[in-house]
This record gives sequence, structure tokens and C-alpha cells, in this order.
Amino acid sequence: MKIGIFGGTFDPIHHGHLITAQSVREIRKLDKIIFIPTYISPHKTNIKTSSAEDRMNMIKISIEGIDFFEVSDFEINKHDISYTVDTLREFKKYYDEIELIIGYDNIFKFYTWKEPDEIMNLAKVIVLKRKSSQPIEFIDKYVERATFVQTRGIEISATDIRHRVHKGLPIHYLVPKEIEKYILDHKLYTEEI
Ligand code: ATP
Repeated sequence: MKIGIFGGTFDPIHHGHLITAQSVREIRKLDKIIFIPTYISPHKTNIKTSSAEDRMNMIKISIEGIDFFEVSDFEINKHDISYTVDTLREFKKYYDEIELIIGYDNIFKFYTWKEPDEIMNLAKVIVLKRKSSQPIEFIDKYVERATFVQTRGIEISATDIRHRVHKGLPIHYLVPKEIEKYILDHKLYTEEI
């Protein structure tokens, strides 16, 4: 079985994540993609996020009924900073072939991640490149080893969604209908950001 791992804050998960994941699955011929919400991202330690429970619930609702998408609570259950290398070590116990899906900007910061060489030994790193992506900033050994995949660019960002909710603007079309309802019912993103 060849799986994809798609990690992130997912605060909230949106159509950009979902459509891109679906197209990467087809391009890379992955049996399934596992969404893994971070508990605390090492890159966002000073940023307040919605509760892990809300972020997890929104992923669950979004992928319900889609048999090639799964969600894992592995990082959330650890209640600690989530390092990709630790997650990959765990999943490697169960899956031989893992592809780690990361956003374009992340590959240029990859050398700052915990044990980047080990990450590349455990998984094939797939970088989501969009037509609108900036040109390659520099080439180091990680950029060289990564596999760039051209995906259709869905310019939706979670930050923008949070701002829109805060300002009382509509977010339908940006997130699945049920997620819009969840956000409003649970009064997410109403506080000053
Ligand atoms: P924020 O705006 O809160 O930083 P984000 O959506 O950019 O949110 P994450 O929720 O952590 O960040 O995203 C998870 C992964 O999805 C990251 O690798 C990110 O690069 C990627 N991603 C985010 N938005 C899109 C999009 N519109 N299309 C494709 N990939 C995306």
C-alpha cells in the first residue's frame, strides 16, 4: 500500500486542501491520503489555534464517505509539539511506502525541520507546486531530492477564512457547507485575531 500523509494545522480545513489532496492522490497513484492535524506546529508555537477537537471534527466531517481519505489523531493525542519525523517513524511501522505531502514554501524551510535527512529516508517528499508559485528560491540537497507535483492552484487560505468569519463575511464556496455550519454553530474565529 502506498499512502500519502498530509499534515497541517487545518484551522479550518478548506476546499484548497481537499481539492489538492484529491489531485495529488491521482497524480501520485496513492491508495489513500491520511490527514494529520498538528497539536502544536513547530512553526506556529506562538500562534493560538482553535482546539484540536474542533480542527479534528472539521476534518472528519469533510472527508466523511470518501474512502481514499482518512484522518489520524496521532499528533493530537501526543499533546506536544508535533514533529513530522516522529509521526513518520510511527506510520512506517504500518506502511512501507509513504509520501509526505508538503506545501511549496515548506521545502525552502525544510532544512530547519527536525531531522530532515531522516524524514527523507522515511518518506518521499512531495511538494505541491502551483502555476502561481514563485520561482525556486535556492537549491539545497532537500530541494534536489524532493518531487515537485504541479497541482491546480486553488487560492484559498485558512487565514483568509478566519479573517472573513471574524468580519462577518460569508465563507460558502471556500469550505464545505457542513464546515461553514460547524464554524458558525461553534462560534469559531469570532475573537480578535
Ligand atoms: P494558515 O493560513 O492558517 O497558515 P494553511 O492552510 O496555509 O493555513 P495549514 O492548514 O497548515 O496551513 O495547511 C496544511 C498544508 O496545506 C500545508 O502544507 C499548506 O502548504 C497546504 N495548503 C494550504 N492551503 C493550500 C491550498 N489552497 N492549496 C494547496 N495546499 C494548501
